[in-house]
Amino acid sequence: MPKNSLRQLYIDELKDLYSAETQMVKALPKLAKASSDGQLRRAFEEHLRQTSEQVSRLEQIFETLDEKPTGKKCLGMEGLVKEGSETMQESYADSVMDAALIGAAQRVEHYEIAGYGTVRAFAELLGEEEHVSLIEQTLEEEKQTDLTLTKLAEQLNSQASEAETESPQPSKAGARRSASKRAA
Ligand code: FE
Ligand code: FE
Repeated sequence: MPKNSLRQLYIDELKDLYSAETQMVKALPKLAKASSDGQLRRAFEEHLRQTSEQVSRLEQIFETLDEKPTGKKCLGMEGLVKEGSETMQESYADSVMDAALIGAAQRVEHYEIAGYGTVRAFAELLGEEEHVSLIEQTLEEEKQTDLTLTKLAEQLNSQASEAETESPQPSKAGARRSASKRAA
């Protein structure tokens, strides 16, 4: 049967976001662990907490729709997470790794912002006022996280560019990462 209603598309998009968020619940602790800067690590930890709430909000929406959130894999997020994992395998110096992690995380936030913007528009069209407000809370958190990362990048990227003038030997954390890469 063709899926010819906007409501069906809305549900599919929500399932995609649910998959995206649950993938990030697993990925964010890894980003936090790979961060050298304390502020960056805390930003990832804080966003992990928010992401768990975002998962709950989606579950609330699915409950009102009498639908299950499972059954779809967000391939876009899978790709972004894979790229992030690849980045973490590199033996960048600490400050350079932090800059790389910010880049990976901002890709994720922008992807989420696009997805939530779409479902918010659908929810409005479908007259799902409760959903609109839940979606907007999440959208606001994603935008704030993106902003926080931009601010951290302004500080940390200049440290990364200074790292260039230092000795080319990998840092301790970089060496640890290379060692775990060899062990993997
Ligand atoms: Fe999210
Ligand atoms: Fe996010």
